[in-house]
Parts: sequence; C-alpha cells; structure tokens
Amino acid sequence: MRLKLLERLEGPVKKLKKNEHHITIIIALILAGLILLPSNASAIDVFVNPVHSPNGAVLVIVDGMGSSYIYPEFMPYDLDGNESGKANLSNIMSISESGTRVLDVRAPQPSTTPGHSVLTTGYSKANEDTVGEMITIFDVIRKHDYVCMAVMQKGDFEEMRAEQDAILFDASHSIREPSIALDYKLSCPNDVVELMQEWQNNSLLGEKEGVERYIAYNEWAIGASDAIASFMCENHPDQKFLLTVNVGAVDLAGHYLGSEQYLYVIEGLDRDIYDLYKTCSENNLILIITADHGMAFDRTEMGREVGGHASEKYAKTLEAQRVPLIINGPNIRKDVISGTYGQEDLAPTLLSGLDVMGVLPCSDGDIIPVKEYANLRVIVDSPTEVVLKGDAAVASASDEDITFLGLLPGNYTILVSSREEYINLNSDQIVELHISRADRRMVIATVMISVVMVVGLLAIWKIMRE
Ligand SMILES: [Zn+2]
Repeated sequence: MRLKLLERLEGPVKKLKKNEHHITIIIALILAGLILLPSNASAIDVFVNPVHSPNGAVLVIVDGMGSSYIYPEFMPYDLDGNESGKANLSNIMSISESGTRVLDVRAPQPSTTPGHSVLTTGYSKANEDTVGEMITIFDVIRKHDYVCMAVMQKGDFEEMRAEQDAILFDASHSIREPSIALDYKLSCPNDVVELMQEWQNNSLLGEKEGVERYIAYNEWAIGASDAIASFMCENHPDQKFLLTVNVGAVDLAGHYLGSEQYLYVIEGLDRDIYDLYKTCSENNLILIITADHGMAFDRTEMGREVGGHASEKYAKTLEAQRVPLIINGPNIRKDVISGTYGQEDLAPTLLSGLDVMGVLPCSDGDIIPVKEYANLRVIVDSPTEVVLKGDAAVASASDEDITFLGLLPGNYTILVSSREEYINLNSDQIVELHISRADRRMVIATVMISVVMVVGLLAIWKIMRE
C-alpha cells in the first residue's frame, strides 16, 4: 500500500520541470533551515505593566558619613560611651522622604578602599584587586550601553579609575593643596570631557580657610557632578550613564577637626546637594546617597577629639560600620526599610533600580526591594515558549532569554515545556531553566515532524498545480 502511494506520488513529481523542482527543494531547505538552525542568542523584553525606568543614576558616596549622625532613629556615642551630637539636615531628609531610606546598612570593612570596592562589586570581601577583575557594576552596565563617569576626591584608586570612561579626581587627596586630574577614554563623549576639563581648572577653594575650606572642597565635587549630569541630560538625552561621586571632606573633618566640625561639614553638604537632587528628579535619574564607612570619635589624654573608622578600636563600633542608604528615583517607592542589610547589597539594588537584569559575578549581596514592581528574567536552553502565571498577571513569549517587566510582587508559576517552576517574587529575579532530556527529545521530534510536513505539503502543492 505504502509503495503504491509512493509510486503514485513519484510519477507526477518526476513530471515537474527541472527548475521548478529545484525551487521546491530550495524552499523546503530554507524552511527546514529556519526551523532547525540554532538561532543566535537573543533576548526579549515583555512589559507586563508599564515601567518607568530611569535614564541613569548618580551615586554619591559621602566619605565617612555614618548614618548614626544623620538618621533620626539613631543616637551616636563616642568610644567612652558619651552621646555625640547629630547633624541637623533638611535636604537629605526630604530626598529620603520622597524615596526609600534603608535603616540599618553595615559596611563589612569600614575603610575607604575596601568600602568603595564593596560598593561597586556587591561583594562583602572585595578589595582594589577585585575591582580590577571586570566584575564591577560598571562592567555590567557597560554591556547595557551605559557610559560610566566619576568625580572622586577619595576612593579613586587605580583600579577604580580604570573602570571609568572619564574621571575627575584629586591626585593629592589634600584640602590644603588639591590637585585635580582628569583621566578619560575615547568612549566618553568629547564635549563632556571638555566640560570636565573646565571643572579641572576651576579654582575650587579660593581663599577659604578652616572648616569653610572643607565645605568648599565638597561643594566643588557636588557642583562638578551636577554640571556633568545636567550636561549629559541636555546634550546626550539618549545616552544612559552612571556618575559615581565621592565627596571627601566629611571624612577629613572627622579625622582632623573633631565631631562638631564633622557635623558642620555634613550640614554644609546638605545645603549644597539640593541642586544635584533637583537635576536628578527633573531628568529621570536615580540619586543614591551612601558612604564607604562611618566615623567614631575618641578623646586623647590632652582632651582633643579624634575620629577614626579603620583601626580596630574604631572599626568594631556601630558608628564606624553603619552607613546611610537613601535612594530616590522615578521608579523608587516611598518607604523606610528596616531589617539589617550590608553595604554589598547596594550594587545589586542599584542594578535593579536601573532595570538592568545583569549579574554581578562575585556579589554576595541581595537586592533590597526599593521598587514598586519586580522584573523576572527567564533563561532557557533554546528558544521555547515560556508562560508566566500569577494572581495578577499572565504573560507568555517565545525565546531563550525573556525578561518580564513590571510584575507586582507575589507568587508566580513559570511553565516551560512540561516543566513548572514556582517562585516568590519580591524583587528582580533571574531564573535559569534547563529543559530535561526527555523534554528536549520531544522538542526535536516536533521540529522534525514539522519539517517533514512542510516538505510534504510543498510536494503536494506542486502536484496539485500540475
Ligand atoms: Zn573613607
């Protein structure tokens, strides 16, 4: 019976003109190829709800600003157990009130270079060598077409500078005689480099002396950062960027001037930061205010107050370990988050704020849920239909790398082939699913059957035309 059928098919097919026959074969091969050839790695975004992603972020690291001295919930003590004073802030508090403030964030290594390394890698044991290993937040977002710029008075070690497309830094680390230098690469827009050169040559401190000189030092870093952020938004509105800022004088005041002047310099920064905040909020940028470490105070035998954070007697104090984390942006909710977090949580949280679904390769930090929504990225072995079901949403797409954006926090089920995966989503998550061998055989069998059907249908179509 089968032979007879084949003979009946063969007869008319042989009658096809030679070139038509070739066309049929070519079309069949193209279709088979489309189905069988492995596609290039691709990724798609599925917007389950609209999201208001920022155009970039400004990360302000206030060197040595402990949250014990600025958060209303905390009271700072010196090493003898006496209450220390607190800074009287208005702008920083109102920035936090229109965003999220995380109460208890601890720096695992309360020292400048490790602190900056932890902040930028999301790894609690990071040091400057770790920063040089292509595992920082800069390496991740650069793959998402970000430009990375920095204005740093401290924390600007060689590996940190190498991570930036352009960086203004104080090569002398000295308030007495600052020496502002500029490193840049061709990847930084030329006009931004020119603007940075102007700020490099800006006489920052004038004739100011004493503690006012400290305040002016910070004012320069904040002013340069505001100018760069505004310029980027006005002249390169489609270029996403991360601007990392270190203001150095709060730390130096803590070390050399005692707690009263330390608080006075923090209050000066509070006045100067308003314009930068305005630039961020008007231009769809995230603003983060944090620190590399805090500061603790002790008295010498002569009665002079001395601040410290890195050496053992200071490093073990809450005043040295607790750092502020204030985040404000278009997609950031208004909240005060309690619970204990680590400084290593900042980098993954910043990535989440930017809606960048990348991986920090060495991070041991967690995303702090600062957004109204969460995103879910599902990675599978090969392009497959992925269905997402939850109480509030059902969505599906076919690809091997799918990001569902704008999901309400809650429970979801991911359906891939015959596999079901249950997840509780309260912040961005990446799920890798490997289809089992049996499932993969099913997929291959389905593809092969489809090819045979297409070829067969084409042959029949040709016969019918005869
Ligand atoms: Zn520091």
